[in-house]
Amino acid sequence: MDTLDHLLDRNLAWAKRKANADATYFQRMAEQQSPHYLWIGCSDSRVTANSVMGLDPGEVFVHRNIANMVHTSDLNLLSVIEYALEVLNIRHIILCGHYGCGGIQRALTGAHSALVDHWLQPIAMLYRKHRAVFDAMADEQRHARLCEINVEMQVRRLAATPLVEAAWARGQPVMLHGWIYAIHDGLLRDLGPHLDSAAERDALPSIDSRVSQAVDPPTAARRNALHAFSAMAPDPVGACACGELAATQAGE
Ligand SMILES: [Zn+2]
Repeated sequence: MDTLDHLLDRNLAWAKRKANADATYFQRMAEQQSPHYLWIGCSDSRVTANSVMGLDPGEVFVHRNIANMVHTSDLNLLSVIEYALEVLNIRHIILCGHYGCGGIQRALTGAHSALVDHWLQPIAMLYRKHRAVFDAMADEQRHARLCEINVEMQVRRLAATPLVEAAWARGQPVMLHGWIYAIHDGLLRDLGPHLDSAAERDALPSIDSRVSQAVDPPTAARRNALHAFSAMAPDPVGACACGELAATQAGE
């Protein structure tokens, strides 16, 4: 029987390191969690919320599923959002996709034989509806663009949930953010939209109209951050399929 002792050994070593560095670390963790952010991301093993944002345990509340989808019938996600808003009083919800997403790749294939195809149906349908636009792109760009448009779409769906609407209606400050992560350089990119009211949500252009438009360029502050980190970025050997497009967006 394989008991995964090597993982338990790693856990022991990690706990010792933490306790040695900060004697009250686990005591503080045990008392309460007070994260400021809810992360809704992909289940992809390379995109872990705490790691990519440089946060410790206790600092971000997390929900992950294949291709960071928002389904209004997903009791798991809805329960997480409810707890985040009504118990933890979280003010920022980050919907984060990533380039090179296998779920998005699956949606591009037109497959319909597995449960995951039901899960991916909204983005697969968007692709089919605008197939002429997407299929005019090179393969890498098509995949990257669908990863991006999926973020925009899921932020809209998040903003349409009664839970978020109710928070806004009672005056609770809740900001929704659309981000995308590039595995090949480890950097997050702020795609938008940014929403903190139903009025802002309702003023957004339709997702259909966004399909054919380029993603808004990063803000000046974001460009500066990307520039500062560019020297630290790993060599793009084995970069994800979207590397070229991501570099273009970063203004590099
Ligand atoms: Zn993914």
